[in-house]
Amino acid sequence: MPNIEMDTNLNKDELWSTTLDALESGLPEGRPRIAFSRMYPREITADGRFILAVANVFSQSWIERSYLDTISAAVNEVSPVSLTVEIVVDEGIVSDGLSGQSQDTVDLADVISPPAAAVTVDAADRQVYDPKLTFDNFVTGDSNQFARNAALAVAEQPGLKYNPLFIWGGSGLGKTHLLLSIASYVRENYPHKKVIYTTSADFMNEFVTHSLKQTTEAFRNKYRTVDVLLVDDIQMMEKWEGTIDQFFHTFNHLQQYGKQVVIASDRSPRSINMDERYTSRFNSGLQVDIQPPPFEVRLAILRQYTERQGFTIEPDALSYIAEKAPSNIREMEGVVNRIIAWAQLSKRKSVNTDDVKASAPDLLLTAAHKVISISAIQKEVCRYYGIAHGELVGSKRKQEIVFPRHVAMYLSQELTDLSLPKIGAEFGGKDHTTVMHAAAKIKKMMTSKADVYQEIEYLTKELRKKAQ
Ligand code: ADP
Ligand code: MG
Repeated sequence: MPNIEMDTNLNKDELWSTTLDALESGLPEGRPRIAFSRMYPREITADGRFILAVANVFSQSWIERSYLDTISAAVNEVSPVSLTVEIVVDEGIVSDGLSGQSQDTVDLADVISPPAAAVTVDAADRQVYDPKLTFDNFVTGDSNQFARNAALAVAEQPGLKYNPLFIWGGSGLGKTHLLLSIASYVRENYPHKKVIYTTSADFMNEFVTHSLKQTTEAFRNKYRTVDVLLVDDIQMMEKWEGTIDQFFHTFNHLQQYGKQVVIASDRSPRSINMDERYTSRFNSGLQVDIQPPPFEVRLAILRQYTERQGFTIEPDALSYIAEKAPSNIREMEGVVNRIIAWAQLSKRKSVNTDDVKASAPDLLLTAAHKVISISAIQKEVCRYYGIAHGELVGSKRKQEIVFPRHVAMYLSQELTDLSLPKIGAEFGGKDHTTVMHAAAKIKKMMTSKADVYQEIEYLTKELRKKAQ
């Protein structure tokens, strides 16, 4: 058996350090360094196992439960060869002290506020790890302030105000942002309360999985003991006729005990194609809608967004974008990402209106409301790079396949409104962190490599053209 560490010059310490960097971009600030500071990379074995040591059984099971998938995905993102991550106990860790670490005996559990303290992330998606999705970062205007105020009221007094709170509005207008703002507000202010954020599809999938394993009792216990249940994209539940009952059992139970339920939907409660007996349940609380943002709100959101990216777009150029951009905020952010990548590529510190016109005219004019599917993206990427679909969604790590795969993941994240887990699933069941790192990698490459920027431009245009 070949020795992987020798053959590929894989150094366990370097690998662990780059893994930590990769993890850092995906977890709340500071958490990985603290959480993982007491682990150390013990060995990369010849048969492809990357062994990480922790101080005790408690840490082992906690890391395995909460972070193993995330760590494995990050390791395999940065490692040139595929590795299986294993967590082992090394009782010597504390007494020996770690390189450069203090020798105190604080356990992981004390160092970190219990991870995911109150928020159980079932439909883990990009927003869940994104610290910008809070009330503080939610720009308010005529189109959304009613919804935002209702969400804040619910977060301040879960179960006591509007119950259920039903938020509806078009895609990309901020519904998920509000649900996750409630989650982080409650987590911060009521750490003992249990919050679950999930999408209706994930909820149903989870139920089906539990049914198959005959563990529905565990499923029921999990959902019936929450204080705040946030269910995103309820309109998708239409497709699950047979199991809708499950959700409403949970819903009724929580209502009965005064627990908070918040629901988001792309459509009004009335136009959801579900039995009246169910939809009428939504009427008992408060229904609020989010409208497409008018010019001033678009401008304010754009300003905040560019500032957060640490980039200057001159005021007149920003107004120009706000005027032309689609009202879907996700697409609007996509336009700005492209302009920033273009500016960095051409080494500009700021951009004016002419630059905007030069860099993204098609994007601005044609972005609006074309549905681009993930299968269209995969097809186009395969065609362009001349690889087979099976390779694109497979797990071969050859560069001529890995790069197109990352490009397709990036485009899926930018051009569709699917969550990262969903995108991962469409790529042969990859972890959501794999998608996140792939997209981040391409985004970065676009700012330094002109050919990558142009390829992405080209592919986007083709996809938009075909979606018309
Ligand atoms: P939806 O769930 O309605 O499809 P999201 O909540 O995912 O939309 O929002 C899409 C993007 O737009 C996210 O990046 C979100 O942070 C951003 N966004 C939406 N509304 C606002 C707002 N009012 N202020 C700042 N950012 C916003
Ligand atoms: Mg959403």
